[in-house]
Amino acid sequence: MFEPVIGLEIHVQLKTATKMFCGNAAEYGALPNTHVCPVCLGLPGALPVINEHAVRLGARAALGVHCEVHEESIFARKNYFYPDLPKGYQITQFDRPIATNGWLDVPGEGVPTRVRIRRIHLEEDAGKSLHDRIPGATAVDLNRAGTPLVEIVTEPDIRSPAEARAFLVQLKRALEYLEVSDCNMEEGSLRVDANVSIRLPGEDLGPKTEVKNMNSFSNVERAIHFEIGRQIGLRERGGAVEHQTMLWDAGRGEARPMRSKEESHDYRYFPEPDLPPLRLDSGRIGELREALPEMPWARQARFGSEHKLSTKHAELLTASRPLADYYEAVVSAGVESQEAANWVMGDVLAAVNAGTGSIDDFAIRPAPLAELLSLLSAGTITRPVARQVFARMAQSGKSARSIVDEEGLAQVRDDDALQRWVAEVIAESPGEVERFRGGDAKLMGFFVGKVMKLSGGKADPKQVNTVIREKLNG
Ligand code: ADP
Ligand code: MG
Repeated sequence: MFEPVIGLEIHVQLKTATKMFCGNAAEYGALPNTHVCPVCLGLPGALPVINEHAVRLGARAALGVHCEVHEESIFARKNYFYPDLPKGYQITQFDRPIATNGWLDVPGEGVPTRVRIRRIHLEEDAGKSLHDRIPGATAVDLNRAGTPLVEIVTEPDIRSPAEARAFLVQLKRALEYLEVSDCNMEEGSLRVDANVSIRLPGEDLGPKTEVKNMNSFSNVERAIHFEIGRQIGLRERGGAVEHQTMLWDAGRGEARPMRSKEESHDYRYFPEPDLPPLRLDSGRIGELREALPEMPWARQARFGSEHKLSTKHAELLTASRPLADYYEAVVSAGVESQEAANWVMGDVLAAVNAGTGSIDDFAIRPAPLAELLSLLSAGTITRPVARQVFARMAQSGKSARSIVDEEGLAQVRDDDALQRWVAEVIAESPGEVERFRGGDAKLMGFFVGKVMKLSGGKADPKQVNTVIREKLNG
C-alpha cells in the first residue's frame, strides 16, 4: 500500500594526481598524514588554488549524464565541526553548482525508468577517522582532506531498493566509461547516501531519513529495504517518521539513528572568499562534450543492432569499456559475432575472474583468440579440443596453431580410427546396444560421448554419429 520514495546522493572521488585546492598527492593508502599542507589543513593565511583537471573531470562526468554545465559556478564554505575536518569548514558548491538538470535511464522489467539528476557540484573531501588503529582512541588521517569529489544528487524518482541498485550500476558504468573515477566502493572513491520516505497513493512527499555508511551496492539495497520496512512499521503503529540521519550496520542488518537531520541553514553557507567564481566558457564546455566517449547505453544498443546480440548479452559485454573493447577486437579479427560473444562471456570471463579480474591483464589477447576460433570454424579442431587449447594458451602463452601441431590435436576424420573406436565402445556396452536396438534412441548421446572420450575429443562428432548409426542399425 505504501509507496517508497528514494533519492540518492553519490560522492565520487575524481581521478586526479593532486588534491582539489593544493598540490599534495591525492593518493589512496599512503602512510597517514604524509600528504598534508597548510592549504588542506586550513591553516591561517593559506590560499586555495582550483585544480583545473578536477574541474574538467567534474564537467565531463556531468555532461556524460546529460547535465547542463554552467559557465559560472560558485564555491561556498559549509561550516561544521568534526574531528576529520579540523579547519572547521568544507569548500563545496551551494546554490550555484557546476551542473544541473541531468538524467539517466535505468533498465528494469519493462520500460526503463528515467531518474532525473538534480545537480552535480564540486567539493573537497574531509579527512578520515580511524577507529581501529589505537585501542580505546580514534586517530585522524588527513591525507584524504582536500581530495576532489563531485557530489551527484538525484531527484526523488526512485521507487524501490532494486531500482536504486540498478541506478547505481548504470551510474557507475557511465563514470567508468568516462574514466573520471576509480569508483571503488571499498576504498571509498564512490559513496552512496540514500534518502528514503514512504507515502500513501496521492499523498505529498513524506518526511525522509538519510541512510549512510553502506559500502557496497548490495548493502545500499539492503539498507533501503530495511528502512522502508521500519518506516512502514512506524506509520502502521500510528507513529511518525522523523527527519534523521541513520547509520547502516551491515553486520546486524539494521540502520540506527545517528543524529537529527541538520538543515542547510545550520551550515551557514557563504561564498568562499578565497576563490573567484569558477568560469568555463561555452567553447571549453563544447570541447568537453565533443570528447565524450561512446556511452555504455549507446554501445549496448549498437551491440544489439550491429552485432545482432540479445539485450542481455549486449548488456553483459558492455559492462565495462575494456570488456567491450576486447569483444569488438575479437569480432574485427573475423570471428562471427555470436560465437565471439559466447566465448568472451564464457571461457574468457571465467578465466579473467579466476585471475586478476581485469581483462587487460588476461594472457590471451583478441587476435590469438580469433586464430583459435578460426581453427574451430574450419573444422581443424573440435569444440572440446578448442576449449583445451584455450586453457593451454592461457597458461603457456603459445599460439593455438603451435599447440595443436605440437600435441597432435587436429580433428581425426580418418575412417579406420573412427571405426575402431566405435567398435570398441559397442563391444564394451552390450546392454546399451540392446536397449538402443529395442528403440531407446536417447542412448545415441551415450555412445557418441564414449567415442569422443576415447578419441580425446578429437573425433568429428558428426562423423561419429554416422558411423554408430551404420554399425548399430546395419
Ligand atoms: P535536504 O535538504 O535534506 O538535503 P534535499 O531536498 O536537498 O534534502 O534532497 C536531498 C536528497 O533527498 C535528494 O537526493 C532528493 O531527491 C532526496 N529527497 C528529497 N525529498 C525526499 C523524500 N521525501 N523522500 C525521499 N527522498 C527525498
Ligand atoms: Mg555534500
